[in-house]
Amino acid sequence: MKLRRTRDTGWYEIASTCPICGHKGWCRINKAQTVVHCMRVQSEHYFDSQIGRQYIHQLNEQESPITPPEIEDNHNVEKKPNDYLDGVYQTFLEESILSDFHLSALLKRKMTKKQIQIREYRTLPSQDRHKITKRVSDRLSSPDDLSGVPGFYVKEGKYGPYWTMAGPSGTLIPFRSIYNEITGFQTRVDQPPLELRLKGSIKGRVLREVEKENGLRRAICELIIAGRRLEGGLIEKDVRSTKDAMGEFLCSAELVQGQKYYWWSSSNKLNGSSIGAPIPYHFALPSELMENWNYHNTPDKLLDCSEIWLTEGGLKADIASDALYKPFIGIPGLNSFSIALEPLKAMGCKHLVIAADADVTITPAVELALGNCVEFFANHTDMKISLAMWDISLAKGIDDLVSRLYVPQVTTLVG
Ligand SMILES: [Zn+2]
Repeated sequence: MKLRRTRDTGWYEIASTCPICGHKGWCRINKAQTVVHCMRVQSEHYFDSQIGRQYIHQLNEQESPITPPEIEDNHNVEKKPNDYLDGVYQTFLEESILSDFHLSALLKRKMTKKQIQIREYRTLPSQDRHKITKRVSDRLSSPDDLSGVPGFYVKEGKYGPYWTMAGPSGTLIPFRSIYNEITGFQTRVDQPPLELRLKGSIKGRVLREVEKENGLRRAICELIIAGRRLEGGLIEKDVRSTKDAMGEFLCSAELVQGQKYYWWSSSNKLNGSSIGAPIPYHFALPSELMENWNYHNTPDKLLDCSEIWLTEGGLKADIASDALYKPFIGIPGLNSFSIALEPLKAMGCKHLVIAADADVTITPAVELALGNCVEFFANHTDMKISLAMWDISLAKGIDDLVSRLYVPQVTTLVG
């Protein structure tokens, strides 16, 4: 197992796949490789940390790796404090642009040009990143001022080391604190990685993406059905299903686009930094109030914050805040609700409205996460807690719902 050092001595981030959830990133393990702190698969024992809820799983003898861990050399530096990050990111905003391609994608989501401009979305291009970085660093007192700012790192080049930017290309969504500091960005990536959606008794994985066919993405996949290994090409959204001799459904595999949003970070790169901990939240105000939101002023001076809405994702919070004219907190995922506690308290929130995606009623993992989220705020605050709900046939997320000019129904859970 490949491990990376973390701030907590004796605990390592799992750089290979987590033995509990099978995903990469964020999950932790102890050096003896007997206990996993998984970020995705729930268990009875857990704790809330600055990166979200961590579930404690004891590995039994079969699960625990026999080989000693490989500990990666870590060239990371500590993330800089929020006011420092904001200074560098503000300079970055001035030196970078939003491409026409990314602008038109946002316009398709029914945002106006004015809203898009006020929100300061930017493009993380695939080319010429070092040129933008150079313009940013020329305005700082030294290029090394980029050290510890997630997104930036030092790359070894033919003519020596130079500063540039990490991560897959896409649209950068700024995350703002209650003091209107930009404390990080999420990237809406241009090419979400392809993954398999498997049903029934089947195992499988994507081996590699290959050239598109009729405009659809394609990948060579490995599938294991009843102990037989098959390898072949699958086309995006194409469902392959297998039936037994009696014509009963056995299993199916579908190639789909995976996660679209990632933190913009430069973890494990020279002089780069991870986005956590604490991971950022995003405080969204209606865009027409943004121009009056001065640095270091809290949003309650501009808008009534006794009721605050909570949703997953920065862009979703921006769109919904404009449509409903409410303050929103966007968190990266429903499991990271604990990071919203401090800003909610600081704003004197009395009524929290949780706007989870409508698939909460059909996806057990999402339903559990929502239950934990409600329980957490009920235990840690005396806020009234409500759920914003709508029919899944109208939209999955609140951003799509309000773009179609519907409003959610608000139901109180904790009075
Ligand atoms: Zn895990």
